[in-house]
Amino acid sequence: MLFNQLYYKYPYQKEFDAVVRTCIPYNNGYAITLDQTLFYPEGGGEPSDTGTLNGVPVLDVQILDDIIVHFMNVPIEEGTTVHGEIDWKHRFHLMQCHTAEHIVSGLIHQKFGYENVGFHMNEVVTLDLNGPVSMSDILEIERQANRIVYENVPVLVLLPNESELATLEYRSKKELTGQVRIIKIPGADSCACCGMHVAKTGEIGSVKLLSLTKYKGGVRIEMTAGYHAMLDYQEKHEKCVEISRLLSVKQEDIIDGVKKLKEELSARDQRIAMINRQLFELKAAGYDNGLDHIIESDSSWSPLEIRIFCETLRKADKAAVNAVLSGNDEDGYYYCISSNSMNLKNISKQINECLNGRGGGSPRMIQGTFHAPLAAIRESLSTLSMMK
Ligand SMILES: [Zn+2]
Repeated sequence: MLFNQLYYKYPYQKEFDAVVRTCIPYNNGYAITLDQTLFYPEGGGEPSDTGTLNGVPVLDVQILDDIIVHFMNVPIEEGTTVHGEIDWKHRFHLMQCHTAEHIVSGLIHQKFGYENVGFHMNEVVTLDLNGPVSMSDILEIERQANRIVYENVPVLVLLPNESELATLEYRSKKELTGQVRIIKIPGADSCACCGMHVAKTGEIGSVKLLSLTKYKGGVRIEMTAGYHAMLDYQEKHEKCVEISRLLSVKQEDIIDGVKKLKEELSARDQRIAMINRQLFELKAAGYDNGLDHIIESDSSWSPLEIRIFCETLRKADKAAVNAVLSGNDEDGYYYCISSNSMNLKNISKQINECLNGRGGGSPRMIQGTFHAPLAAIRESLSTLSMMK
Protein backbone atom coordinates (compact mmCIF):
# COMPACT_ATOMS: atom_id res chain seq x y z
CA MET A 1 0.00 0.00 0.00
CA LEU A 2 1.39 3.38 -0.99
CA PHE A 3 1.58 6.10 1.61
CA ASN A 4 1.80 9.87 1.58
CA GLN A 5 0.76 10.37 -2.03
CA LEU A 6 0.63 14.17 -1.78
CA TYR A 7 -0.44 14.38 -5.44
CA TYR A 8 -3.83 12.87 -4.52
CA LYS A 9 -4.31 15.06 -1.43
CA TYR A 10 -3.13 18.27 -3.11
CA PRO A 11 -3.51 17.86 -6.87
CA TYR A 12 -2.94 21.61 -7.46
CA GLN A 13 0.14 21.97 -5.24
CA LYS A 14 3.37 22.59 -7.17
CA GLU A 15 6.04 22.45 -4.43
CA PHE A 16 6.66 20.32 -1.33
CA ASP A 17 9.25 19.35 1.27
CA ALA A 18 10.10 15.75 2.12
CA VAL A 19 12.69 13.66 3.95
CA VAL A 20 14.91 11.29 1.94
CA ARG A 21 14.30 7.75 3.15
CA THR A 22 16.71 5.87 0.88
CA CYS A 23 19.13 6.69 -1.93
CA ILE A 24 20.79 3.82 -3.75
CA PRO A 25 22.87 3.63 -6.96
CA TYR A 26 20.74 2.39 -9.87
CA ASN A 27 21.58 2.11 -13.60
CA ASN A 28 24.27 4.85 -13.75
CA GLY A 29 22.12 7.08 -11.52
CA TYR A 30 20.27 6.95 -8.23
CA ALA A 31 16.91 5.62 -7.02
CA ILE A 32 15.50 7.83 -4.27
CA THR A 33 12.52 7.29 -1.99
CA LEU A 34 10.90 10.02 0.11
CA ASP A 35 8.57 10.05 3.11
CA GLN A 36 5.99 11.85 0.93
CA THR A 37 5.85 13.12 -2.65
CA LEU A 38 3.94 15.31 -5.09
CA PHE A 39 5.50 13.46 -8.05
CA TYR A 40 2.88 11.32 -9.79
CA PRO A 41 4.50 7.98 -10.76
CA GLU A 42 3.81 6.60 -14.26
CA GLY A 43 0.62 4.56 -14.26
CA GLY A 44 -2.78 4.08 -15.84
CA GLY A 45 -1.53 5.32 -19.24
CA GLU A 46 -0.32 8.59 -17.70
CA PRO A 47 3.41 9.50 -17.83
CA SER A 48 5.17 10.39 -14.59
CA ASP A 49 5.58 13.96 -13.40
CA THR A 50 8.82 15.75 -14.16
CA GLY A 51 10.43 18.46 -12.05
CA THR A 52 13.27 18.85 -9.54
CA LEU A 53 14.42 17.83 -6.07
CA ASN A 54 16.73 20.49 -4.58
CA GLY A 55 16.91 22.03 -8.06
CA VAL A 56 18.21 18.80 -9.67
CA PRO A 57 16.04 17.22 -12.39
CA VAL A 58 13.92 14.19 -11.53
CA LEU A 59 14.17 12.04 -14.67
CA ASP A 60 11.45 9.48 -14.02
CA VAL A 61 9.13 8.32 -11.23
CA GLN A 62 7.90 4.74 -10.98
CA ILE A 63 6.14 2.49 -8.50
CA LEU A 64 8.42 -0.48 -7.73
CA ASP A 65 7.18 -3.08 -5.23
CA ASP A 66 4.54 -0.65 -3.95
CA ILE A 67 7.12 2.08 -3.32
CA ILE A 68 7.35 5.36 -5.25
CA VAL A 69 10.90 5.72 -6.61
CA HIS A 70 12.39 8.94 -8.03
CA PHE A 71 15.23 8.45 -10.53
CA MET A 72 17.97 11.09 -10.63
CA ASN A 73 21.54 11.50 -11.87
CA VAL A 74 22.92 12.72 -8.52
CA PRO A 75 22.58 11.27 -5.00
CA ILE A 76 20.88 12.99 -2.06
CA GLU A 77 21.95 12.11 1.48
CA GLU A 78 19.51 9.90 3.36
CA GLY A 79 17.73 11.62 6.25
CA THR A 80 18.02 15.13 4.77
CA THR A 81 15.05 17.32 3.88
CA VAL A 82 14.63 18.11 0.20
CA HIS A 83 12.54 20.70 -1.58
CA GLY A 84 10.64 19.39 -4.58
CA GLU A 85 9.00 21.24 -7.46
CA ILE A 86 6.95 19.57 -10.15
CA ASP A 87 6.78 20.84 -13.74
CA TRP A 88 3.29 22.29 -13.47
CA LYS A 89 2.88 23.06 -17.18
CA HIS A 90 3.50 19.40 -17.98
CA ARG A 91 1.30 18.11 -15.13
CA PHE A 92 -1.62 20.45 -15.85
CA HIS A 93 -1.58 19.49 -19.53
CA LEU A 94 -1.78 15.82 -18.49
CA MET A 95 -4.64 16.59 -16.04
CA GLN A 96 -6.55 18.39 -18.82
CA CYS A 97 -5.92 15.63 -21.38
CA HIS A 98 -6.68 12.82 -18.94
CA THR A 99 -10.00 14.35 -17.87
CA ALA A 100 -10.87 15.04 -21.53
CA GLU A 101 -10.12 11.40 -22.34
CA HIS A 102 -12.54 10.29 -19.58
CA ILE A 103 -15.30 12.44 -21.08
CA VAL A 104 -14.70 11.16 -24.63
CA SER A 105 -14.34 7.48 -23.62
CA GLY A 106 -17.39 7.78 -21.32
CA LEU A 107 -19.59 9.34 -24.02
CA ILE A 108 -18.50 6.71 -26.57
CA HIS A 109 -19.22 3.97 -24.02
CA GLN A 110 -22.69 5.44 -23.33
CA LYS A 111 -23.55 5.68 -27.02
CA PHE A 112 -21.87 2.61 -28.56
CA GLY A 113 -20.99 0.37 -25.58
CA TYR A 114 -17.32 0.19 -26.67
CA GLU A 115 -14.43 -0.04 -24.23
CA ASN A 116 -11.25 2.00 -24.29
CA VAL A 117 -8.77 -0.89 -24.64
CA GLY A 118 -5.55 1.09 -25.05
CA PHE A 119 -4.62 4.50 -23.74
CA HIS A 120 -1.39 6.53 -24.03
CA MET A 121 -0.87 10.11 -23.17
CA ASN A 122 1.74 12.73 -23.89
CA GLU A 123 1.35 15.88 -26.00
CA VAL A 124 -1.31 13.96 -27.86
CA VAL A 125 -3.57 11.30 -26.35
CA THR A 126 -4.25 8.07 -28.22
CA LEU A 127 -7.18 5.90 -27.28
CA ASP A 128 -8.09 2.58 -28.85
CA LEU A 129 -11.71 1.44 -29.02
CA ASN A 130 -12.82 -2.16 -29.52
CA GLY A 131 -15.43 -1.25 -32.15
CA PRO A 132 -15.86 0.97 -35.20
CA VAL A 133 -17.06 4.59 -35.23
CA SER A 134 -17.32 6.98 -38.17
CA MET A 135 -15.83 10.44 -38.53
CA SER A 136 -19.31 11.98 -38.17
CA ASP A 137 -19.81 9.95 -34.94
CA ILE A 138 -16.65 11.32 -33.37
CA LEU A 139 -17.41 14.88 -34.47
CA GLU A 140 -20.71 14.59 -32.60
CA ILE A 141 -18.87 13.11 -29.57
CA GLU A 142 -16.44 16.06 -29.76
CA ARG A 143 -19.35 18.55 -29.68
CA GLN A 144 -20.92 16.78 -26.69
CA ALA A 145 -17.55 16.59 -24.87
CA ASN A 146 -17.02 20.34 -25.30
CA ARG A 147 -20.55 21.02 -24.02
CA ILE A 148 -19.61 19.16 -20.83
CA VAL A 149 -16.47 21.34 -20.64
CA TYR A 150 -18.53 24.56 -20.93
CA GLU A 151 -21.01 23.32 -18.29
CA ASN A 152 -18.02 23.25 -15.90
CA VAL A 153 -19.24 20.22 -13.97
CA PRO A 154 -17.22 18.91 -11.00
CA VAL A 155 -14.89 15.93 -11.48
CA LEU A 156 -15.62 13.77 -8.44
CA VAL A 157 -13.13 11.41 -6.82
CA LEU A 158 -15.01 8.61 -5.04
CA LEU A 159 -13.37 6.13 -2.66
CA PRO A 160 -16.21 3.63 -2.08
CA ASN A 161 -16.00 0.74 0.36
CA GLU A 162 -16.63 -2.78 -0.93
CA SER A 163 -20.41 -2.72 -0.48
CA GLU A 164 -20.75 0.77 -1.96
CA LEU A 165 -18.59 -0.30 -4.90
CA ALA A 166 -20.91 -3.23 -5.58
CA THR A 167 -23.77 -0.79 -6.21
CA LEU A 168 -21.79 1.50 -8.56
CA GLU A 169 -21.67 1.27 -12.33
CA TYR A 170 -18.27 2.19 -13.71
CA ARG A 171 -15.85 1.42 -16.50
CA SER A 172 -12.75 -0.58 -15.60
CA LYS A 173 -10.04 -2.25 -17.66
CA LYS A 174 -9.31 -4.99 -15.13
CA GLU A 175 -10.44 -6.76 -11.94
CA LEU A 176 -9.60 -4.39 -9.11
CA THR A 177 -8.41 -5.21 -5.61
CA GLY A 178 -7.92 -2.97 -2.56
CA GLN A 179 -9.25 0.58 -2.42
CA VAL A 180 -10.85 1.43 -5.76
CA ARG A 181 -10.72 5.07 -6.90
CA ILE A 182 -13.66 6.07 -9.08
CA ILE A 183 -13.55 9.23 -11.19
CA LYS A 184 -17.10 10.42 -11.82
CA ILE A 185 -17.99 13.17 -14.27
CA PRO A 186 -21.77 13.67 -14.07
CA GLY A 187 -23.41 13.28 -17.47
CA ALA A 188 -20.29 11.78 -19.07
CA ASP A 189 -18.42 9.06 -17.25
CA SER A 190 -17.71 6.93 -14.23
CA CYS A 191 -14.43 5.07 -14.36
CA ALA A 192 -11.91 3.42 -12.06
CA CYS A 193 -8.67 5.39 -12.45
CA CYS A 194 -5.43 6.11 -10.59
CA GLY A 195 -4.44 9.18 -12.67
CA MET A 196 -4.55 12.93 -12.18
CA HIS A 197 -7.58 15.01 -13.23
CA VAL A 198 -8.78 18.61 -13.07
CA ALA A 199 -11.35 19.54 -10.39
CA LYS A 200 -13.95 20.98 -12.80
CA THR A 201 -14.41 20.28 -16.49
CA GLY A 202 -14.18 23.98 -17.44
CA GLU A 203 -10.44 23.82 -16.73
CA ILE A 204 -10.01 21.51 -19.75
CA GLY A 205 -10.57 24.57 -21.95
CA SER A 206 -11.39 22.60 -25.07
CA VAL A 207 -11.35 19.03 -26.39
CA LYS A 208 -10.11 18.41 -29.94
CA LEU A 209 -10.22 15.05 -31.68
CA LEU A 210 -7.37 15.01 -34.21
CA SER A 211 -7.57 11.76 -36.15
CA LEU A 212 -9.49 8.51 -36.58
CA THR A 213 -7.88 5.36 -38.02
CA LYS A 214 -8.82 1.69 -38.18
CA TYR A 215 -6.92 -0.29 -35.56
CA LYS A 216 -7.06 -3.99 -34.56
CA GLY A 217 -10.72 -4.49 -35.43
CA GLY A 218 -11.70 -1.18 -33.81
CA VAL A 219 -10.39 2.34 -34.15
CA ARG A 220 -7.60 4.53 -32.78
CA ILE A 221 -8.48 8.12 -31.95
CA GLU A 222 -5.89 10.83 -31.40
CA MET A 223 -7.02 13.79 -29.36
CA THR A 224 -5.73 16.70 -27.34
CA ALA A 225 -7.04 19.32 -24.94
CA GLY A 226 -6.40 22.66 -23.27
CA TYR A 227 -3.54 24.89 -24.38
CA HIS A 228 -2.28 22.25 -26.79
CA ALA A 229 -5.70 22.17 -28.49
CA MET A 230 -5.49 25.97 -28.88
CA LEU A 231 -1.97 25.64 -30.38
CA ASP A 232 -3.30 23.00 -32.78
CA TYR A 233 -6.13 25.35 -33.82
CA GLN A 234 -3.67 28.22 -34.24
CA GLU A 235 -1.33 26.12 -36.42
CA LYS A 236 -4.18 24.87 -38.62
CA HIS A 237 -5.68 28.35 -38.86
CA GLU A 238 -2.31 29.71 -40.04
CA LYS A 239 -2.26 27.02 -42.73
CA CYS A 240 -5.79 28.00 -43.85
CA VAL A 241 -4.70 31.65 -44.07
CA GLU A 242 -1.63 30.70 -46.13
CA ILE A 243 -3.61 28.39 -48.47
CA SER A 244 -6.20 31.16 -48.92
CA ARG A 245 -3.42 33.61 -49.82
CA LEU A 246 -1.75 31.15 -52.24
CA LEU A 247 -5.06 30.38 -53.97
CA SER A 248 -6.22 34.03 -53.87
CA VAL A 249 -9.61 32.98 -52.50
CA LYS A 250 -11.45 33.72 -49.25
CA GLN A 251 -10.73 31.33 -46.36
CA GLU A 252 -14.24 29.87 -46.53
CA ASP A 253 -13.68 29.06 -50.22
CA ILE A 254 -10.34 27.20 -49.99
CA ILE A 255 -11.87 23.74 -50.61
CA ASP A 256 -13.55 24.99 -53.81
CA GLY A 257 -10.25 26.71 -54.68
CA VAL A 258 -8.28 23.46 -54.36
CA LYS A 259 -10.92 21.53 -56.37
CA LYS A 260 -10.76 24.15 -59.14
CA LEU A 261 -6.96 24.02 -59.18
CA LYS A 262 -7.03 20.20 -59.42
CA GLU A 263 -9.50 20.39 -62.31
CA GLU A 264 -7.28 22.91 -64.12
CA LEU A 265 -4.21 20.72 -63.57
CA SER A 266 -6.06 17.65 -64.82
CA ALA A 267 -7.20 19.49 -67.98
CA ARG A 268 -3.63 20.70 -68.52
CA ASP A 269 -2.25 17.16 -68.04
CA GLN A 270 -4.70 15.83 -70.62
CA ARG A 271 -3.68 18.54 -73.10
CA ILE A 272 0.05 17.83 -72.52
CA ALA A 273 -0.60 14.09 -72.99
CA MET A 274 -2.39 14.77 -76.29
CA ILE A 275 0.46 17.02 -77.55
CA ASN A 276 3.01 14.41 -76.46
CA ARG A 277 1.18 11.67 -78.36
CA GLN A 278 1.28 13.82 -81.50
CA LEU A 279 4.99 14.57 -80.91
CA PHE A 280 5.81 10.87 -80.41
CA GLU A 281 3.91 9.91 -83.59
CA LEU A 282 5.77 12.59 -85.59
CA LYS A 283 9.13 11.49 -84.18
CA ALA A 284 8.34 7.82 -84.94
CA ALA A 285 7.24 8.66 -88.50
CA GLY A 286 10.53 10.53 -89.07
CA TYR A 287 12.65 7.37 -88.82
CA ASP A 288 13.62 5.28 -91.85
CA ASN A 289 12.28 1.73 -92.17
CA GLY A 290 14.38 -1.37 -91.43
CA LEU A 291 16.60 -0.01 -88.66
CA ASP A 292 18.36 -2.28 -86.14
CA HIS A 293 17.47 -0.03 -83.24
CA ILE A 294 16.08 3.33 -82.17
CA ILE A 295 17.24 4.88 -78.89
CA GLU A 296 15.51 8.04 -77.60
CA SER A 297 16.34 9.83 -74.35
CA ASP A 298 14.92 12.92 -72.65
CA SER A 299 15.30 13.70 -68.95
CA SER A 300 11.87 15.41 -68.76
CA TRP A 301 9.74 12.41 -69.75
CA SER A 302 7.75 10.61 -67.08
CA PRO A 303 7.71 6.77 -66.84
CA LEU A 304 4.22 6.84 -68.42
CA GLU A 305 5.42 9.07 -71.28
CA ILE A 306 8.40 6.84 -72.09
CA ARG A 307 6.06 3.84 -72.15
CA ILE A 308 3.65 5.60 -74.53
CA PHE A 309 6.52 6.70 -76.80
CA CYS A 310 8.04 3.21 -76.77
CA GLU A 311 4.68 1.67 -77.71
CA THR A 312 4.25 4.29 -80.48
CA LEU A 313 7.68 3.30 -81.88
CA ARG A 314 6.74 -0.41 -81.77
CA LYS A 315 3.50 0.25 -83.66
CA ALA A 316 5.39 2.33 -86.27
CA ASP A 317 7.61 -0.77 -86.74
CA LYS A 318 10.68 1.11 -87.99
CA ALA A 319 13.31 -0.83 -86.02
CA ALA A 320 13.92 -4.31 -84.59
CA VAL A 321 14.39 -2.79 -81.10
CA ASN A 322 13.09 0.52 -79.68
CA ALA A 323 14.42 1.94 -76.42
CA VAL A 324 13.19 5.09 -74.69
CA LEU A 325 14.97 6.48 -71.62
CA SER A 326 14.46 9.24 -69.10
CA GLY A 327 16.82 10.26 -66.30
CA ASN A 328 20.44 11.21 -65.75
CA ASP A 329 23.80 9.51 -65.13
CA GLU A 330 23.78 10.34 -61.41
CA ASP A 331 20.28 9.14 -60.42
CA GLY A 332 19.87 6.49 -63.11
CA TYR A 333 17.35 6.04 -65.94
CA TYR A 334 13.83 4.76 -66.36
CA TYR A 335 13.74 2.61 -69.46
CA CYS A 336 11.18 1.08 -71.74
CA ILE A 337 12.21 -1.30 -74.53
CA SER A 338 9.86 -2.69 -77.20
CA SER A 339 10.21 -5.04 -80.17
CA ASN A 340 7.96 -6.74 -82.71
CA SER A 341 10.49 -9.42 -83.62
CA MET A 342 12.36 -10.35 -80.42
CA ASN A 343 11.16 -12.00 -77.21
CA LEU A 344 12.36 -9.34 -74.77
CA LYS A 345 11.18 -11.26 -71.72
CA ASN A 346 13.86 -13.88 -72.44
CA ILE A 347 16.70 -11.36 -72.46
CA SER A 348 15.46 -8.92 -69.83
CA LYS A 349 17.57 -10.51 -67.03
CA GLN A 350 20.72 -10.29 -69.17
CA ILE A 351 20.08 -6.59 -69.98
CA ASN A 352 19.46 -5.74 -66.34
CA GLU A 353 22.62 -7.53 -65.21
CA CYS A 354 24.67 -5.72 -67.82
CA LEU A 355 23.34 -2.25 -66.93
CA ASN A 356 22.83 -2.58 -63.16
CA GLY A 357 19.09 -2.54 -63.74
CA ARG A 358 15.78 -3.87 -62.46
CA GLY A 359 12.52 -4.60 -64.18
CA GLY A 360 10.80 -6.87 -66.65
CA GLY A 361 7.59 -7.19 -68.61
CA SER A 362 6.16 -9.05 -71.57
CA PRO A 363 7.78 -10.52 -74.72
CA ARG A 364 6.91 -7.32 -76.65
CA MET A 365 7.80 -4.73 -73.99
CA ILE A 366 9.98 -4.53 -70.87
CA GLN A 367 10.47 -1.60 -68.51
CA GLY A 368 12.39 -0.72 -65.37
CA THR A 369 15.45 1.23 -64.25
CA PHE A 370 19.14 1.23 -65.17
CA HIS A 371 21.93 2.55 -62.99
CA ALA A 372 24.62 3.07 -65.62
CA PRO A 373 25.89 6.04 -67.68
CA LEU A 374 23.88 6.90 -70.77
CA ALA A 375 26.86 6.13 -73.05
CA ALA A 376 27.10 2.58 -71.65
CA ILE A 377 23.31 2.12 -71.97
CA ARG A 378 23.40 3.27 -75.60
CA GLU A 379 26.29 0.96 -76.38
CA SER A 380 24.59 -2.10 -74.82
CA LEU A 381 21.18 -1.39 -76.34
CA SER A 382 22.63 -0.84 -79.81
CA THR A 383 23.76 -4.47 -79.81
CA LEU A 384 20.41 -5.83 -78.61
CA SER A 385 19.00 -6.52 -82.07
CA MET A 386 21.83 -9.03 -82.55
CA MET A 387 20.90 -11.04 -79.47
CA LYS A 388 17.91 -12.90 -80.99
ZN1 LIG B 1 -8.28 9.04 -15.22
